[in-house]
Amino acid sequence: MKIIWIVLIVALCFFVLAWASDNFQYFSFDDVRHAVAGVFFADSITEGELKEAYVNAVRGGEKVKILIVPGHDDASWGTEYNGIREADLNMRVGEALAAQFAKNPAHETILLRDRNGYLPAFETYVAEHEATVRAEVVAKKKIMKDLLAAGSVERLQGVQHNKAALPVVLRLYAINQWANENKFQLVLHIHFNDFGGRTARNMNQYSGFAIYVPDGQYSNAKASYAVAETLFAELSSVFKKSNLPKEDAGIVPDQSLIAIGAYNTLDAASVLIEYAYIYEAPLRTPAGRKEAIERYADTTFRGVERFFK
Ligand SMILES: [Zn+2]
Repeated sequence: MKIIWIVLIVALCFFVLAWASDNFQYFSFDDVRHAVAGVFFADSITEGELKEAYVNAVRGGEKVKILIVPGHDDASWGTEYNGIREADLNMRVGEALAAQFAKNPAHETILLRDRNGYLPAFETYVAEHEATVRAEVVAKKKIMKDLLAAGSVERLQGVQHNKAALPVVLRLYAINQWANENKFQLVLHIHFNDFGGRTARNMNQYSGFAIYVPDGQYSNAKASYAVAETLFAELSSVFKKSNLPKEDAGIVPDQSLIAIGAYNTLDAASVLIEYAYIYEAPLRTPAGRKEAIERYADTTFRGVERFFK
């Protein structure tokens, strides 16, 4: 955050100096705009850095820090089908995935929420940082709004998502800020999908998985896309991709999902996986769910391993 302010001030100083020294025509508003946009959206992490970190970890250096975030929680549990709540499904995939990652000592994997609730350290962070999280989001939204108004950033309309309530929104931004402060390198968000207007009659029209990645203009976009590619390769070898329009791309860039870094709020590479539509057949029975959850975790782990190796 500090660096953005420093750059803004430096850019402003240049502008004033250029103007004062009669060189105004050589240093227009456009240049300032591009300078600010360039830094706001400079890569926060690269594919090369992630792979280098892994090689270093295998040699006994610092581990690669991965955060697993099972989407939603008991207060706001996402979608639901036949009494099965999305938050619970997400949590179970998260636990299975964390167990997979534990097999590779090159990773330090943190599961943000398990059957006992949120990680206590994160709960404390949320309680103590509400004001700073709010301030950070307001500041980043302001920069983005200015860049949009200046035409330096393009507003893109992705797949329609439900609007989250304010406490949910703040918690999502708090996850990003906590992940930034704790220097996580990869954040995996786990979800199950649904669509608006679902009824018993029309519900089988959409099925399959999708991987959401940050909009290409964000700082963590390129590295996230690289992770999504190997994940997609593994997932699509086992599961069918979504047939919902736009989502049928398989890897879906999104500008407005907070989880993966809306308003450029997340430094780590990040993907949000919608494993299936919550009403899909394998998820309808306890035995089917158990097996499907293991397969989601196993395939995701292999996809991430394939990226690092
Ligand atoms: Zn969800």
